[in-house]
Amino acid sequence: MTANVPSESKLLWGWGRTAATRSEVIHAPDAASAADAISDAGPRGVLARGLGRGYGDCAQNAGGTVLDGPSMSGLIDVDLKNGVVTAKAGTSLDDLMRWLVPLGYFVPVTPGTRMVTVGGAIAADIHGKNHHRLGSWCNHVQSFRLLDGHGEVRDITPESDPDIFWATAGGVGLTGVVLDATIAMNPIESSRISVDTDRAPDLDSVMQLMIEGDDDYDYSVAWIDLLAQGASMGRSVLERGRFATLAEVSAEGVDKPLEYSTSQFPAPPDIIPSGMLNRLSIRAFNELWYRKAPVMRRDELKTIEAFFHPLDMISDWNRIYGKRGFLQWQFAIPDESSEVIRRSVERLSASGASSFLAVLKRFGEGNEGHLSFPQKGWTLALDIPAGSGLDRLLDELDELVVEGGGRVYLAKDSRVRPELMPLMYPRLDEWRDVREKLDPNGVFRSDLGRRLGLSG
Ligand SMILES: Cc1cc2nc3c(=O)[nH]c(=O)nc-3n(C[C@H](O)[C@H](O)[C@H](O)COP(=O)(O)OP(=O)(O)OC[C@H]3O[C@@H](n4cnc5c(N)ncnc54)[C@H](O)[C@@H]3O)c2cc1C
Repeated sequence: MTANVPSESKLLWGWGRTAATRSEVIHAPDAASAADAISDAGPRGVLARGLGRGYGDCAQNAGGTVLDGPSMSGLIDVDLKNGVVTAKAGTSLDDLMRWLVPLGYFVPVTPGTRMVTVGGAIAADIHGKNHHRLGSWCNHVQSFRLLDGHGEVRDITPESDPDIFWATAGGVGLTGVVLDATIAMNPIESSRISVDTDRAPDLDSVMQLMIEGDDDYDYSVAWIDLLAQGASMGRSVLERGRFATLAEVSAEGVDKPLEYSTSQFPAPPDIIPSGMLNRLSIRAFNELWYRKAPVMRRDELKTIEAFFHPLDMISDWNRIYGKRGFLQWQFAIPDESSEVIRRSVERLSASGASSFLAVLKRFGEGNEGHLSFPQKGWTLALDIPAGSGLDRLLDELDELVVEGGGRVYLAKDSRVRPELMPLMYPRLDEWRDVREKLDPNGVFRSDLGRRLGLSG
């Protein structure tokens, strides 16, 4: 293997902890050693990996090489006047927040966990609770350096190389290794979010509230109790907000307006039997959570962690599903097919799926990313314990999504049928052409790529 660079044979899985596969993980600290790994790659190729927060197999490469993202992390440049940051691709959003929130900047987009890297954010073109306002991550990326399949470093901007830029945005690591990126941050006056909460008794009410009111908020998310049935089907807690101003937090007696802190409870043990979480225990949790929420509350100040990353408070919470793990099903659907949301919730509620809260968000216009997930309309995401026997139902729901002009999210997928790919992502062939140009020998490979016919 690559001289003088540490490497180890390791079992890797996604956040859902299903289908682990073994790879040679290389801790390449710089572009030159990453390029060596590309030239030394065997027939199973190479893949960049971040913090492994993709749920399925997008960051795995069975029998091949995996480049460990966090081995290359840190800030390269910060322009505080203009709020522009250049960071190595393995830098986590957690670190960006820790460094920049006290200086008055927040990441432009954050997913439901801050434990993702800049490279992973580009490769999944991640979205947050503000897609309807600011779009997805790559809308804020001004440039990146990409190591291609020849081992050459390319400086890419959306203006200089739009095809390469947008094929990499959401390209699940199969167009090359992002080395570093320059990203525009969002100015903030405080680190508190002013949150309005509404409890909605059913799915129609929450969707109506979102249609009518989301445009008035920077961030919006609805948590749906998928176990509620009958008249309560789709009952939800809707949380919407914006960063509070300095005057607002001062009026509330907050003396460190830009303080950023996080807390973490210990991880659950790694010995929880699969199946311990059953419909009854999840129903009890969902019920408690719904009852605890206020029917309506306005202008509550929440910390960044409480509003954006509540799950991060429990380290390795994915272990609660036991050894068998779990999968996440997330789809996007245009407004004109919003009926697919109702039908999915109906069928999942009726199926006995033991699912914690599902997440419903609005999407604004999608961007030019060939495989970027967001498209104007809605997105629904939910966890299901692996082995729940819902494979057939999910296959049927995928078809509903396709008929409605929607798609599932590759960064979370572990099961979609490959023949649906060109229907969900109609620009797939264009993406393949760009990939062919960057990586004619097909060096970049992944388990997801093989499963869906995107790579060898
Ligand atoms: C609790 C939780 C909540 C989440 N919420 C959201 C959400 O709200 N919105 C959302 O969009 N996503 C969400 N996600 C998914 C997550 O944001 C994405 O999967 C993200 O890509 C993970 O980043 P990572 O650094 O862990 O990358 P990994 O999971 O390690 O890799 C993800 C992909 O990025 C590629 N990649 C990583 N680094 C590089 C690089 N340097 N160059 C090229 N390719 C690279 C990998 O090959 C892989 O295809 C959530 C995940 C979790 C666990």
